[in-house]
Amino acid sequence: MSAAALLLVLGLPCLAALLARRAARALGRTHPATATWCLTLLSVGIGFATCLGIASVAADLLLLRWSSLLPAVLVHLPPGSLATCALVLGAALLAVTGALPAGCAAARDWWAAHRALGDRPAGGVLLLSDDAPEAYAVAGPRSVVVVHTGLFDLLAEVERAVVVAHEQAHLARHHGVHVLAARTGAVLNPLLRPLVHAVHESVERWADEDAADRVGDRAAAARTVARASLARRRASTGGGHLAMSQGGAAARAAALVRPRPPDRRAAVLAVIASVVAVNLAVGDAAHGVEDGYERLRRSAATSAEPSATTRNGRIAITVTQSTH
Ligand SMILES: [Zn+2]
Repeated sequence: MSAAALLLVLGLPCLAALLARRAARALGRTHPATATWCLTLLSVGIGFATCLGIASVAADLLLLRWSSLLPAVLVHLPPGSLATCALVLGAALLAVTGALPAGCAAARDWWAAHRALGDRPAGGVLLLSDDAPEAYAVAGPRSVVVVHTGLFDLLAEVERAVVVAHEQAHLARHHGVHVLAARTGAVLNPLLRPLVHAVHESVERWADEDAADRVGDRAAAARTVARASLARRRASTGGGHLAMSQGGAAARAAALVRPRPPDRRAAVLAVIASVVAVNLAVGDAAHGVEDGYERLRRSAATSAEPSATTRNGRIAITVTQSTH
């Protein structure tokens, strides 16, 4: 792999991640549904491009530099298939191992929440006798909205409706999946970590907007967010819950005081086009690994016949590697 290709496969995902961080700030001016989808797609798309870039470098090292380490049987595979398999399997392996930590953390949160709820019926709204002014949504097969009496008793009827609508929006819009996707992208490419915080804030604002639409009163929604935040006397009940008082309450209340922000679906299309372009560019550069491997095989077969055969069960084509 040439220096230019190496720079492209490793540098482009990093550059894209830095640009995504700037885009995250700009997306704050759009409707939070738009912003959430854009941030999620950026996290997943750039995270996968990072995997592809790392896999191409690994394949380049393994096939072109350290090929003597490969079993001899692999040299008989159809042209290009070994390099292609190395790229695809490497990228998939990195993606899966990157998703595991985020998935395990989400599973732990989900299990802890359902153990805390015990045998209570799923669905609907569960009013818990607890002085802590909290409300949160527990996703999963037994999804439920939980509101503590400590918050419920503080609020007027319309404000209670806002709280319930906010938490139901988290469940209906699958906000937990967006957060999980952003966490996965950040594991695959640490430069994407700020997007996790941005997605957390964005899903809270999205739920606020849905709640305001449901009750038809933006002022009441803003007041509810502010009161819930002020009443909060203890920390969040857990990282896996999307609690009512999370996500920058002052900014959320201020956003609800302003008119509803515009949907910008073109922004989602632009993000999709961008992440596809980044992956195609990285994939095209990674394709050079296949070309290099094939040139190496042909060179080994024509110019140095003995060296293209096996030696002690190992591929010996590294002897003719000088052109790469
Ligand atoms: Zn929330």
